[in-house]
Order: sequence, then C-alpha cells, then structure tokens
Amino acid sequence: MGVKPQPSWRRQLSNILLFLAGLFLIANLFFPQIFGTSIPQVPYSLFIDQVEDGKVTSVFVAQDEIRYQLKSENEQPGQIFKTTPIFDLELPKRLEAKGVEFAAAPPPKNNWFSNLLSWVIPPLIFVAVWQFFLNRNDNSPAGALSITKSRAKVYVEGDTGKITFQDVAGVEEAKTELQEIVEFLKHPQRYLAIGARIPKGVLLVGPPGTGKTLLAKAVAGEAGVPFFSISGSEFVELFVGAGAARVRDLFEQAKKKAPCIIFIDELDAIGKSRASGGFMGGNDEREQTLNQLLTELDGFSAGDATVIVLAATNRPETLDSALLRPGRFDRQVLVDRPDLSGRLKILEIYANKVKLGQDVDLKEIATRTPGFAGADLANLVNEAALLAARNERKTVAQADFYEAIERVVAGLEKKSRVLSEKEKKIVAYHEVGHAIVGAAMPGGGRVAKISIVPRGMAALGYTLQMPTEDRFLLTESELRQQIATLLGGRSAEEIIFDCITTGAANDLQRATDLGEQMVTTYGMSKILGPLAYERGQQNNFLRDGIMNPRRMVSDETAKAIDNEVKEIVEQGHENALKILKQNRELLEEIAQKILETEVIEGKELQTFLDQVKPLETVILL
Ligand code: ADP
Ligand code: MG
Ligand code: ZN
Repeated sequence: MGVKPQPSWRRQLSNILLFLAGLFLIANLFFPQIFGTSIPQVPYSLFIDQVEDGKVTSVFVAQDEIRYQLKSENEQPGQIFKTTPIFDLELPKRLEAKGVEFAAAPPPKNNWFSNLLSWVIPPLIFVAVWQFFLNRNDNSPAGALSITKSRAKVYVEGDTGKITFQDVAGVEEAKTELQEIVEFLKHPQRYLAIGARIPKGVLLVGPPGTGKTLLAKAVAGEAGVPFFSISGSEFVELFVGAGAARVRDLFEQAKKKAPCIIFIDELDAIGKSRASGGFMGGNDEREQTLNQLLTELDGFSAGDATVIVLAATNRPETLDSALLRPGRFDRQVLVDRPDLSGRLKILEIYANKVKLGQDVDLKEIATRTPGFAGADLANLVNEAALLAARNERKTVAQADFYEAIERVVAGLEKKSRVLSEKEKKIVAYHEVGHAIVGAAMPGGGRVAKISIVPRGMAALGYTLQMPTEDRFLLTESELRQQIATLLGGRSAEEIIFDCITTGAANDLQRATDLGEQMVTTYGMSKILGPLAYERGQQNNFLRDGIMNPRRMVSDETAKAIDNEVKEIVEQGHENALKILKQNRELLEEIAQKILETEVIEGKELQTFLDQVKPLETVILL
C-alpha cells in the first residue's frame, strides 16, 4: 500500500458534516423501532397488579401501547415496562386511586435518560461498524472519516504470482493490441521523443468470463509497472459526491506512481449513458462520478506521466458517448469468446495443472464446447478433475470431461428426483421427439445424446445437440429447423398421448424467441420485409424498465409482427408433427429403448437416427 495523501481540512470538514447527516438519517429511519422493542413487555394483568401494589409511579398511555415506570429504589431510576392495553374504562380511576401520574401525551419526563440513550447508542454502534469496515481496507489514521479514499487494490512489480500474456490464450488480436500498450509503458520516451501521443484510455470489451480482467493484469505484469485495480461499482456510494472524490483520489495516487496502470473493472457501473437515466431524473451520484472521471481523463497530459487507464465492460453499448471520445477511451479492444483453436489453447493451459489420463483428447473437448468462454473452460477442467477425484482415480479421463461439459451445460445431475412411470414415459417420448425432428432437420446440429435423467432445476430430460463446427452465421432455413426441433418434444406428446403437458414451456419460450428475432431483428419475414423492428442495442432501455425495446410501430405493424411470429412457430410445429407421424414406429422403438437405459448416445443413437425418414416436402414459406 502506498502512502495516501491527506485531504485538506476543508474536505475533511465537509466529510464530517456529510457523515453526521448520514448518521442522523439512518438512526432516525431504523433505530426507534429496534430500540422500542428493548423495553420488556409484560402482560396487562401484571401491570394492573403492580398498580394495585402501588409500585408504579407513572404511566404513559398510547393508542396501542402502555409504557409505565416503577418507583425508584435505592437511587436507581425505576424500571420501564410496556404492555398492550385492553379496553379498560376503569384504568384512569385505578391509577388515580393509587396516585399514579399518567398521561396520554409524550412519555413521562423522567424517561428522558433512556430516551436519550436510545438516540445515542445506535449512532455509536454505527460508528463502530463503520470504523471496523474502513480500517479493514484502509489503515491510514484518518481512515474512520475518510469516506472518499479510493479502495483501489495495488499490485506492484515483483509481486509473486505475476500474470503475463502466457496465462491468457485464445484472444490473440487483443493480446497484439495490448502488446503495444506494454511498449508504451516500458519505453515512453521512445514515443514521446517522436511526438506521438500515448493513448490514455483503453477499453476492453467482451462477454463475461472471456479474460478481460486477466488481460489487464497481464499488461501490468508484462510491463512491470504498478497496477491500480478498482471496480466501477465501488465508486457508487451512499453519499453523493463520495464516488467523485474517490476517482480524484485514485488518480492522485496513480500519478505519484507513474508509469502505472489504472484498471477500472465493470466500467458500465459508472459510465452508463446519462441520456438513459434521464427518465428517472438521472442518478446524481453516478453522474458526478462520471464527470469526475472525464475530468481526470482529460486532466493528466501525456507529457508528464505515463498513466494508462484500462477499463473493462461487457456492455459497451450502454456507455456514455463522452467516455468514448478521442483522448479518453478512444481505443477499444475486443475480447471475444475463443474459437476452436483458442479453446484448445485455453484448455491446454488449465489441463497442464491437473493430471491427465492417457485417453484425454483436448481437441475433441474443444470441439464440443463452442460458445464456452475462458472462465467456463477453466471451470470445466476443474469439474472434470473433481469428478475423477470423487471416483478415487489418479488421473482425469476423457469421460470426466464429457460429464463435466454436460454439467456445465445442463446443471448438476439430479438422480434423486423421482418421476412416476407415467411421467417418465412422457419425458421419454418428448425427448425422442426432439431427437427425431432434430435428425430430420439438422439445423441445430447433430443429435449426440438423449437422456431422461433429470438434471438441474428445470429439465426433466434433455436432448443434446452438438454443433458440427463453429457457426457465426445461421441461415433462415436453419433457424426454422431449430424451431421445428424445439417443437418436436411437444409434438411427440400430442401424437402419442393426445394430450399436452407443461413440460414444453421452455421449448416454446425458446421457439417463440427465435421466431420473434427472425421477424424483428433479422428481417426474415416476407411480409414485414428487411426492417429491424427491434431497436439496436445502443437504444435498448429495457434494462431500466422504461421504454419498449421495439421501435415505434403502428398498431397494424405490431399485429403483423405477432401474426408472423405465430405463423413461423406454427409452421415449425406442423413440420415437427409431419416428421414424427412419418417416423412413428421409430419414435416408439427409441422411446422403449430409452425407458430401459435412460440414456442413448454414440453409435447406438446414430444407428437409430440414420433410419429417420426426412420430411419429403420441407415447407419453408
Ligand atoms: P472477465 O473479466 O472477462 O469477465 P476474467 O478475466 O475475470 O473474465 O476471467 C475469469 C477467469 O477465467 C480468469 O481468472 C481465468 O482463470 C479464466 N479465463 C478467462 N479467459 C481466459 C483466457 N482467455 N485464457 C485463460 N484463462 C482465462
Ligand atoms: Mg472481469
Ligand atoms: Zn423439450
């Protein structure tokens, strides 16, 4: 930890004021009730007894509570109790008879001390908790009141376990671009001498788990410079203005350590477009923090110190455009999900850390895991190792990896869930329905496995389709085939049992989503034409729950969209029904088989599916 600059007395004073205001508010909001309950509650009858015995000195009657104080003994103030009143017209008379002071207005005066205590203690507890938390990550003497101190974690050169580019795989383009940043940090003079402007802000953009945070650390590790890391959400604070002060502080610290890297993870937490918040009247705190960040980015000139600000986000479209202007985060580095060879390299990194069996074929595993991000693959290797260890084997086998893939994809195996015979039968036909339609219309990939072993929270059974290659584009007919396959389960239920169950809910959801995307996003509807009815990501206010994600469309168009989506899904349904009727014997046969074995895969499944008669006239309107 570096030495942190002390804020000026002015800032400290305003901090204290802010802090006290916060205390007051919180104490006021939460503690009266909590402390109210600490007065012992007694039965009404006991209260009456004590009055009759002349032990009570004063009574305070409220609408739903009576508080009373006993007469004081040996200098101690009398104890206070409360009780719940019953409808008792005699009470005033009784109290009067015993000479008890009573009122229906504010509590008796000699109550003031405990009242005061209940006001003083909560803030004290609050301060104690506050101090505890602050001291844990800030050991400067002013820690207790310096709510504005940045909480950046600093990694300095020479730290053990340095991360380098070797630890990151599958994101070669990003690595090449960041290599340049490393050069800037290592030899700033080379660039400055020639008059080049060193970029200040680099934004790492990509889905979660693709290694953005890891890459940022690798840049610091390669360049051998200090690395200040803070998450955007840590700037968002209880008090307006605290986040902004924290940004200021972070940059102050960093400038002292230059050359260095500031890494702001989850930038979208502060950098959200100001326009999108406008409907709610904006978020003052976030806006101030953002403004401060912009000021700081503009403030330090490349000449005096090399501070490079790296930031990461998985939602670049929500960022305020001011952040992306030249001179700020003007470089964007895409960190995408790895392709086949990338996945293989990542698997190699992590497989190196476990003991592999003879039969392990990482290439095959990479082939089976399209769409997995680096974090998923790291997790996959670990799951496989856990499985091997649980079965008390010395090395991880290929089968462990397959099992782990399914775990990651479909959640943990739940053998404990017991289905009735009838349910099991329905699930069997449902899944075989998916498989047969999927085999006849392979737009969603090759059917690799059918299982009626329940997994995860929702699926009672599942049909695993493996893409045969990485796909970046899908054709309209492939999408239609996927929809038909999704409806295969429901269609099989209809044909065999002539009734429908709730089991297809998720399938229907996905089929409808696909159909809607075809119409509104991909322009695949003849009737509605190649228009994007869905707003692009940059205008998507859906997350704030404010605006419709659709463009403004006329009522007729909205109706037409609904009709088209319905038409597409219905068409898929009809195709699925046709295929299954054509292959009814096979459907029965495979279903019988799977009811015995619970799982069919590999060659056996392939022999079955090779017999599937394809749809003669595929109707693709
Ligand atoms: P992000 O910040 O993009 O959400 P992280 O960098 O936090 O993802 O990745 C989480 C973990 O997943 C990393 O610590 C690392 O173990 C693993 N990982 C992710 N991507 C990669 C990659 N490209 N190469 C190697 N490991 C990776
Ligand atoms: Mg991250
Ligand atoms: Zn299904």
